[in-house]
Amino acid sequence: MLSIKNLHAGIEDKDILKGINLEVKAGEVHAIMGPNGSGKSTLSAVIAGNENYEVTEGQVLLDGEDLADLAPEERAHKGVFLSFQYPVEIPGVSVTNFMKTAINESRKAKGQEEMPANEMLKLIREKSELLEIDRKFLSRSLNEGFSGGEKKRNEIFQMAMLEPKLAILDETDSGLDIDALRIVANGVNKLKSENNAIIVITHYQRLLDYIVPDFVHVLYNGKIVKSGGKELAYELEEKGYDWIKAEN
Ligand code: ADP
Ligand code: MG
Ligand code: MG
Repeated sequence: MLSIKNLHAGIEDKDILKGINLEVKAGEVHAIMGPNGSGKSTLSAVIAGNENYEVTEGQVLLDGEDLADLAPEERAHKGVFLSFQYPVEIPGVSVTNFMKTAINESRKAKGQEEMPANEMLKLIREKSELLEIDRKFLSRSLNEGFSGGEKKRNEIFQMAMLEPKLAILDETDSGLDIDALRIVANGVNKLKSENNAIIVITHYQRLLDYIVPDFVHVLYNGKIVKSGGKELAYELEEKGYDWIKAEN
C-alpha cells in the first residue's frame, strides 16, 4: 500500500530525512518511535504532502502511484489521513457538520454526488456507536474548548468517518494523559482492518501497551536505524534510546 523509497527531505538548507525506506501493507499497524528531533513528524508531514518540506530525493508511493505532484487535499482524497490536520476551532460548526462537509467535499473531488442525508446519518450513527461517542459531543463546536482527550476523540471520529486507506497518527504531544491514549488506542484497534494500514508515531512505549503493532521502527537522525516486532518497543522502554544513539 505505502512504499517509501530512499526518501530525503528537509527545510531550507537543513536535511531532516536522510534516506527512509519503509513498506507498509494493507492490514498492518506500524509504530514509528525515536527520540525527539529524529524526524518523525517530518516524515508524517511529507507523506501527507505538507508543502513546507522539500523532497530532495526518493519517492512516496501509494498503491504504486508516486504522490510527488499531489497536494495535501489530493492525497487526502486518495485515502491518506493525518491526525491533527484540522486542529482549527470553528465556533458554530459542530463536529458532525464539519464531517459532513469534509465527506461531501471529498466525494465532489472524486466526481461523486453528495452523500444522501439518510446515508450520512446512518454512517454517523454507526461510527459514533462503534467508538462510543455520545450525541452531545457530536453537536459541540469543533475543537472549541476541547480537552486533550476530546481532541483525540474528534480525530478518531474523523478517521472513522473518512475510512482512510492509510492513517498516520502522530502522537507528538507528551502531555497526553492515559484517557487520551486509551481513546486513540481503542479507535485504532476498532478501525484497523484488512483494507487499511495504520502508522502510529510515538515517543512513548506506553501507547503500545494498548495498540499492538505488527512492526516497530526506530527513527533516529532522519533514518530508520532499527526495525522489529512489538518486542522492540519493550526493549526501548527498558533500555531507552541511548544504545540506539551509541550505535549510530
Ligand atoms: P520528531 O517529530 O521526531 O521530534 P521533527 O520531525 O519534529 O522530529 O524534527 C526533526 C528535525 O527537523 C528537528 O531538528 C527539527 O528542529 C527540524 N525541523 C522540523 N520541522 C522544522 C521546520 N518547520 N523548520 C525548521 N526545522 C524543522
Ligand atoms: Mg518532536
Ligand atoms: Mg514529532
